[in-house]
Amino acid sequence: MRPKIVAGNWKMNLTFEKADQLLFEIGELIEEKKTKGVEIIICPPSPYLELATDFAQDFEIKVGAQNVSQYEDGAYTGEISAAMLSSIDIDFSIVGHSERRKYFAETNASLAAKVDRLLEYGIQPIFCIGEQLEERESNKHFEVVKSQLVEGIFHLSQSEFSNIVIAYEPVWAIGTGKTASPEQAQEMHAFIRQLIIDQYGEEQAHETSILYGGSCNAKNAKELFAQADVDGGLIGGASLKAEEFMAIANSF
Ligand code: PEP
Repeated sequence: MRPKIVAGNWKMNLTFEKADQLLFEIGELIEEKKTKGVEIIICPPSPYLELATDFAQDFEIKVGAQNVSQYEDGAYTGEISAAMLSSIDIDFSIVGHSERRKYFAETNASLAAKVDRLLEYGIQPIFCIGEQLEERESNKHFEVVKSQLVEGIFHLSQSEFSNIVIAYEPVWAIGTGKTASPEQAQEMHAFIRQLIIDQYGEEQAHETSILYGGSCNAKNAKELFAQADVDGGLIGGASLKAEEFMAIANSF
């Protein structure tokens, strides 16, 4: 059975002290509520990755990076390689978040290379896809999501693909307070799962976790996670508050 996952994307927020405090509060809530059967992934800014991996030795969480270089190593100032992430025991990395596609000109081709680098080092990509508002309004959302999948990850062999987590994040819902309705999320998640069936077969599709992201919070998570093809969430703003984040993790 595919894992249920709630991943927190802290983006470029928090000082070291505040990050430490947030991890501490999350730890207390994990102890108290004994969240069962949900994989909790924390994706802090890179300078705090080791802080989070230290914390992961005592609490049931996994740690993810927010980005990785498409290059192996060498003269790429400011970049962080998959080998570096692997050397500090990072389990996951977000790839292709819409903010990176928008502000850092990441393309499906460069994202495919990032996915390859991560898999070479045994790190699971959380591969983000999702349409812009104009694309949904002009009824192109299915086409856009399909091409992101085909160009970004469908070159993988089935055994490589079995390490992928997909996050469907409609761009119009990210950080806007405008969540996709449970029906809209389910419709797209079912479409994505069907594409995986066509490419890799029923069994693989059944084992692939597809997360929803976009203004997910403690109030709307239950209904979203109740949808047959929604296997959890990638949470931005609401992951910066321990109570809210853990309430989301307890929404299955
Ligand atoms: C995100 O950054 O992946 C995200 C879903 O953000 P938010 O929850 O703030 O919309």
